[in-house]
Amino acid sequence: PTGGLSNILDGLDPQQREAVLAPRGPVCILAGAGTGKTRTITRRIAYLVEQGHVRADQVLAVTFTSRAAGELRSRLASLGTLQAGTGTVQARTFHAAALRNLRFFWQRAYGDTQWELLDNKFRAVAQSARRTGLDAGTDMLRDLISEIDWAKSSLVPPDAYAERARALERDTPVRREQVAEIYRTYEELKVAGEVRLLDFDDLLGYMATALEEVPDIAREFRDRYRCFVVDEFQDITPSQERLLRAWLGPRNDLTVVGDVNQTIYTFAGAEPNYLLRFGAQHDNAVQVKLESDYRSTPQIVDFANGVIKGGSKRFQAAGLTLRGMRAPGPLPQLAEYPDEDQEAAGVAAEIAELIACGVAASEIAVLYRVNSQSERIEAALDSQGISYLVKGGEGFFDRPEIKQAMTVFVRLAGNPDVAAADTTPQEVSARMRAALHPVGLTDAEPSGEKARDKWRALDALAGLAEELAAQPVDPESGAGRTLSGVVAALRERASARHAPQTDGVTLATIHAAKGLEWDAVFLIGAHEGNIPISHAIKKGPEAVEEERRLLYVGVTRAREHLYVSWAKARNPGGRATRQPSGLLDEVMPDELRAEALIPRGNSGKRTDGCKNCGSDVPPDRKGFSYCSDCATDADYEMFDRLRSWRRDVAGEKPVYTVFSNDTLAAIAVA
Ligand code: ATP
Ligand code: MG
Repeated sequence: PTGGLSNILDGLDPQQREAVLAPRGPVCILAGAGTGKTRTITRRIAYLVEQGHVRADQVLAVTFTSRAAGELRSRLASLGTLQAGTGTVQARTFHAAALRNLRFFWQRAYGDTQWELLDNKFRAVAQSARRTGLDAGTDMLRDLISEIDWAKSSLVPPDAYAERARALERDTPVRREQVAEIYRTYEELKVAGEVRLLDFDDLLGYMATALEEVPDIAREFRDRYRCFVVDEFQDITPSQERLLRAWLGPRNDLTVVGDVNQTIYTFAGAEPNYLLRFGAQHDNAVQVKLESDYRSTPQIVDFANGVIKGGSKRFQAAGLTLRGMRAPGPLPQLAEYPDEDQEAAGVAAEIAELIACGVAASEIAVLYRVNSQSERIEAALDSQGISYLVKGGEGFFDRPEIKQAMTVFVRLAGNPDVAAADTTPQEVSARMRAALHPVGLTDAEPSGEKARDKWRALDALAGLAEELAAQPVDPESGAGRTLSGVVAALRERASARHAPQTDGVTLATIHAAKGLEWDAVFLIGAHEGNIPISHAIKKGPEAVEEERRLLYVGVTRAREHLYVSWAKARNPGGRATRQPSGLLDEVMPDELRAEALIPRGNSGKRTDGCKNCGSDVPPDRKGFSYCSDCATDADYEMFDRLRSWRRDVAGEKPVYTVFSNDTLAAIAVA
């Protein structure tokens, strides 16, 4: 093999190689978390390009979250082959890809009709509901929106809605017929004005229709893109699958990879059967299974297998078990706290310790079930002085200062003298940075946390502008180099909700973390009612199974350190009624029950020497309550259990720690 080829095949196991080297045509990789699916598809793309089967810019790789798309892009960028003058591989979310396609082809498909992205779906659905005589509150609106989203991504039109919802026994916020009417009104409302409004699913639908009905567009598109790759294929919805088919046309140059145990969007229409039936539906499909987990320590793999055990048969039918390939590491930790403030403080303290031990902040993530959980952890990290970035970034472009900055940029780009004058990427980005001064990019130093937060966001935006300015000019969007090109690219990122990456501990929902990995993962709020979330419990076993898969996605993000915690009560002093998530049953050590773990006498501050004899000989472990003369083996063991990040034991159950107020007080001394 050539140098390039041996590089491409380097660090792949035989099954991964088989998938990379498969001839052009349909390829399906069905495999568990951390088995190298994403690595394999990036190498396959590199291989196809290297061998001259396809040009880099003829490859379209798609996935579902903007972070995952970003991850694909950065992994592709690190494979040198793809930058050798043949343009770059497009790696995007389905929505971002469709948005880009539509910007380019809109006029030829839909003429002079003006259009824009609908950015306030809430208002539109509220208005539609009102027209049907329903004054819906926030919660109901949210339910109506998710019902409409489900219908659209499942390709169920308003006329068919009521019947389908009945057949599937869907729980609807109001009568099915009324949901259908609101849905119909909403669809009409979007096309009633002078400017047509497109919601996220419309992007897919309008683009698919353009390809299906305008042969010229189909021809040009399929000439431009010849090879398609879909990561996380288990989460594809019928409307995305329709677009994918429209992209492909009669071709079958498609590689898909997925893990049915990571299906976490069925509530929104995801259909894992597309993955399970891929082989049956594509003649000559090459099918590969990967079972070696390269990401996580065997202890974490065991933990993940434990979470998935007892899941529903349909998903287990894929018959995959993960085998951990890495060297053993510390045991996963289960930790129970009295309340959420203590939990946040405990997690922040553990994070501070990891950072002190040399783990980079950017290699640490705190994951949670719902966005509202981030607040306390943000406060706790603030108080430790640890920088962080929040969420999948969906909210980034909604921040007031970012909106203001975008307006400034758009105005700047609209000035013909300025827009045309810049030549080098440095000049472009310097000008853009300067334009952000009035918005608040300069006033960060001693002003408070709020201003610093704002500064961080603006700095991230400026950094993104810099990155875009340095990219080669893209003929389709005009992005790159000129100021107006960079602003156009920024606007595209904004409408695709594709936020910039910044440094620091990542705080994200589990949904937004899919496909990503960190050295240390803290999964907080693992109590019954949060994961599985209460409305899933109410809905029934299938919805709970989706929560199980979500938990599995969460824990499989960790390479070395996994820390799963929950709080007995929401607020300090509140009623301690919460139970740990039932989804953890398999990994809960029965012998390590709550009471057993509180160290004997270890309940006070060690301000006055050894707890037992009072001597002021320093303890031989930081924060330990006894001197070495008084401590028993059991005391040491217990103490190590409490602080056992760096223990090196394989094949055991996770460490289960109950942090009572007393033990927390003891640890606080350390
Ligand atoms: P997920 O299901 O979570 O998306 P995945 O199957 O896509 O996971 P990757 O992210 O591609 O897995 O790989 C997991 C980790 O294992 C990455 O850090 C990757 O670089 C590494 N890895 C993959 N294959 C190998 C291999 N053959 N040898 C060593 N490391 C590997
Ligand atoms: Mg992956």
